[in-house]
Amino acid sequence: MPQTITQALLNNQTLLAQALQLEKIEARIEAQALLSHTLGVSKAYLIAHRDEPLNPLQENQFQTLVAQRLKGEPIAYILGEREFYSLPFKVTPAVLIPRPETELLVELALAHIPQNTPLRILDLGTGSGAVAITLAKHRPLASVTAIDQSLEALNVARDNAARLATTNITFLQSDWYQSVKHQIFDIIVSNPPYIAKNDIHLRQGDLRFEPISALASGIDGLTDIHTIVNGAKTHLSPGGWLLFEHGYDQAEACKALLDLHGFIHAESVNDLAKIPRVTLG
Ligand code: GLN
Repeated sequence: MPQTITQALLNNQTLLAQALQLEKIEARIEAQALLSHTLGVSKAYLIAHRDEPLNPLQENQFQTLVAQRLKGEPIAYILGEREFYSLPFKVTPAVLIPRPETELLVELALAHIPQNTPLRILDLGTGSGAVAITLAKHRPLASVTAIDQSLEALNVARDNAARLATTNITFLQSDWYQSVKHQIFDIIVSNPPYIAKNDIHLRQGDLRFEPISALASGIDGLTDIHTIVNGAKTHLSPGGWLLFEHGYDQAEACKALLDLHGFIHAESVNDLAKIPRVTLG
């Protein structure tokens, strides 16, 4: 007997809930996302056609995706996509999966970039390009430079820029400021790696599947933030702003670092979970 859409969803949401310790509703959302991806239809279609049977090929493909997820692979990598700031971004295991917390970085950056000024923006460690592309789309007069050390990540970012028809971005392979040595920017943003390299969380959950170079930074997680802040001194125009994301317990260290390097107006801003997540100056 072929399974109907309803049966396939129910059976697999139970498996997902048990294996990944998800709430029922989360498991349902994931099962729906995987099935709509398999069938190439919307979630609304699944609901409207709940008694439709799956053919053996569809059942097989769905089971393959569910099996990947049961092994802990992040759903964004299985679907190949994650929404960020209401835009769809392609993601692969070569890039960090864009997080909702990072929307705060974009929001704060936008607050410091007037609409009608051709400012120069630098995004350090662009990954999927989520931050750079979102800024470029909201500020079409700005010229955005996005760097990453990883060529694989840059390919994903370039692909995203093309899909989202963004033309005001230049992508460069660079070890932080290396390839932009003599350039000056009005805004520098970054979501750098900031987890301590021995942090147990790196071996748990989604993080296990994400690029370690996008996550871990030295013994205390602050090595790359030091490089970013230090370099910003010589790469920011007078009155320019540096804004970067960091870990839940790093705000004080980041503000102190900005003070040490002569930044003014240094402050940290909380994310929606009330955790200080972005520091700027
Ligand atoms: N915020 C991510 C996490 O802890 C880490 C991202 C990063 O290091 N930039 O899951």
